[in-house]
Amino acid sequence: MKWNKSEVIGFQNSLLDWYQANRKALPWRETKEAYKIWLSEIMSQQTQVETVIPYYKSFLEKYPDISALADADDAELLKLWEGLGYYSRARNLKSGAQQIMAEFNGQFPRELDKIRSIKGIGPYSAASIGSICFKLPEPAIDGNLFRVSSRIFEISDDISKTSSRKIFDEKLRQVISIKEPGDFNQALMDLGATICLPKAPKCAECPVILYCSANANGTQEYYPIKTKKIKQKNQYYQAFAVKSADKYLMSQRRKNGLLADMWTFPMLETEEKAEVELPSNLKDKVIKYTEIGEITHIFSHLKWHVRLFVCQLEEDDQVQANTAMDNQKWLSKKDLMKHALAGPQIKLFKLLQDAFHGH
Ligand code: SF4
Repeated sequence: MKWNKSEVIGFQNSLLDWYQANRKALPWRETKEAYKIWLSEIMSQQTQVETVIPYYKSFLEKYPDISALADADDAELLKLWEGLGYYSRARNLKSGAQQIMAEFNGQFPRELDKIRSIKGIGPYSAASIGSICFKLPEPAIDGNLFRVSSRIFEISDDISKTSSRKIFDEKLRQVISIKEPGDFNQALMDLGATICLPKAPKCAECPVILYCSANANGTQEYYPIKTKKIKQKNQYYQAFAVKSADKYLMSQRRKNGLLADMWTFPMLETEEKAEVELPSNLKDKVIKYTEIGEITHIFSHLKWHVRLFVCQLEEDDQVQANTAMDNQKWLSKKDLMKHALAGPQIKLFKLLQDAFHGH
């Protein structure tokens, strides 16, 4: 349902008045300088605000403006970032500063498409910087805004779908304050962080309770709609089938953690599509290796991609089991029956069998 003009104004006023009275005091809220807001936005991604504050201050002392950041020494920059994690953010900031020097004459651009073109700035950060620094009426939709607006307007579109963003964006554009879009965005973010919480929202304290459809219908807990699918993190491994006579070199996994104590081929975690890297005790012994395929194995939060290499030894049985890394042994097929094989390992044996004996 579309709001009339007085509802829009009433909503904006309630929200903005509450924000003025309750806004969190943060160093980057003392300024509208785009460089500083940009810095705070990038530092705050995936990071708690309290953690960001000292980094923000020391970063500005060292690099007070765009040109200083563009000239930053890489090692010093990363040292200053140490502990914040996601180091590509620091590198992108420097590249972005160099881009602003080269393409925009050292001036942070004021138009949304130009802000978006800066390295490392996505749609959310661009809208946030644009609304705070240049009063662009752009909704800055992050997780908090999804939650709060899905409740206020009872939007039933699944927030984990990319296509839903447009629906939220359109709805928020109808109500965003043209005069104070930056405060409006930040007010909704603060509301989501302190009152319209994911579980048990504190509706009795909410400044916009009169405008909230979910509150009126008692449906707060149903919103936002989000498919529950857990996204597994991808991990990449190389596994090595090394056979001598009728025995395979096998590794026992550590006592703790995933697949604890279970047996697999020697394996190394690598980057995706990495070059082959043999484990240290195989390096000088293997004269030839052949990749025969890949298996995937899904755990609750992880997805393993394991490439299997069959290795040929220089001389039979010369590889020392590497006991420093993990417990290794040469095991015959009969021995293997007595050892707990990890799920992915069973798939690796199957792959091996298919490769050499047909289907
Ligand atoms: S009334 Fe409740 S559900 Fe609605 S916006 Fe406020 S805190 Fe969220």
